[in-house]
Amino acid sequence: MIKEIKTILAVGSIAIDTIETPHGVRNNILGGSATYFSLAASKFSQVKLVGVVGADFPSSAWKIFNTHQINTDNVQRKNGKTFHWGCRYSNDFSKRETLFTDLGVFKDFLPKIDSEDCKSSLVFLGNIQPELQLDVASRSVSAKYIVSDTMNLWIDLYPDMLGDVFAISHILLINDDEAYQYTGLKDLSAAANCLHRDGPSIVIINRGGKGAYLSNAGQGSFIPAFPINKLVDPTGAGDTFAGGLLGYLAQTESPDFIEAVLWGTVMASFCVESFGINSLLRVSLENFNHRIAILKDNMLTKKDI
Ligand code: AMP
Repeated sequence: MIKEIKTILAVGSIAIDTIETPHGVRNNILGGSATYFSLAASKFSQVKLVGVVGADFPSSAWKIFNTHQINTDNVQRKNGKTFHWGCRYSNDFSKRETLFTDLGVFKDFLPKIDSEDCKSSLVFLGNIQPELQLDVASRSVSAKYIVSDTMNLWIDLYPDMLGDVFAISHILLINDDEAYQYTGLKDLSAAANCLHRDGPSIVIINRGGKGAYLSNAGQGSFIPAFPINKLVDPTGAGDTFAGGLLGYLAQTESPDFIEAVLWGTVMASFCVESFGINSLLRVSLENFNHRIAILKDNMLTKKDI
């Protein structure tokens, strides 16, 4: 039997980033939550990208989308500037400061999606305003899994609307600080249980270098991080994790969510080893499978990683 590989509908930001880390500065590089996500997921499935860019969006960036399995029919091209964002990491990477956020054409973004593309069974609601996430979800008529991500800004501004996003999500990806901020709790399993009550049966709390906590309907598992060579730039790690996870779901009928988290973990491990999307562009299936095997071996032997 031929394995059916599902397409993924993904909405989020498409950006031009400026990033400062202890390893240097990169100006005006391709970024955005939907970009990281799509590049990771496109290793395993076709991605239908939903977003907006301005007239300044470089042809090199279009070429990157077009040479991967990333369909851009639902990416609007508007007169004006593409969303620009800048950040600086502290010397030990423990803090990230946003230097600027120029919304440009992203300010008035209203997702437009071809009706055929609304039939994807896998939907990723990347980090954008909760109202837009809800809009895309309401049009996703055949969604088997709606996977959502968010950030501290939306927890501050629109906690109630974010609750509505969680209510329609099957899988929630969130980092530990955000989970604690949203729930007001300071314990992983208590925060996950509180988030389950809002809707998602799968809650994955990312803890950076400490790995991820998976709560499957309240049953918790710790999955370690992959032992990377060198942390260069953590930007987009969460979105890349989501890309690996949905890439797994695209290839599987009855998912094992620990395996899904392993795919996300390994994909994110490549992302953080160089600036922006650079190392994601170079990931081969062979390298990916090699890291999955190492991570599984480490988990089996419970090596301290
Ligand atoms: P992350 O490291 O997961 O927070 O994702 C980083 C990406 O998010 C960067 O490439 C930014 O362009 C993008 N980003 C930053 N702020 C926002 C925002 N307010 N809305 C949407 N995307 C954003």
